[in-house]
Amino acid sequence: MRIKKGDLVNIIAGKDKGKSGKVMKVYPVRHRVSIEGINVYKKHVRPRRQGEKGEVIEVTRSLQRSNVMLVCSSCSKPVRVGYKREGKKPIRYCKKCNATF
Ligand SMILES: [Zn+2]
Repeated sequence: MRIKKGDLVNIIAGKDKGKSGKVMKVYPVRHRVSIEGINVYKKHVRPRRQGEKGEVIEVTRSLQRSNVMLVCSSCSKPVRVGYKREGKKPIRYCKKCNATF
């Protein structure tokens, strides 16, 4: 998974295409990410108990990893991310400007 929590990403598909936001959560096994303020849907909740009202709540749904692109912190463009090794530690880098992050 080349996207981490806290990354700024650009949405390249779906209803919020073109927008960008901060990654709130990553689901590595499911290859999905949740982004702040992106893919927000309204959900209607039925009243559970008597006297309680049904309400409309907003839920942020996760997106498939392939529908987002990382925004490079040095060239501030949506970029593809590569990995290279520095010693034993794998380091992410921008395929456009080669900056590491
Ligand atoms: Zn870059």
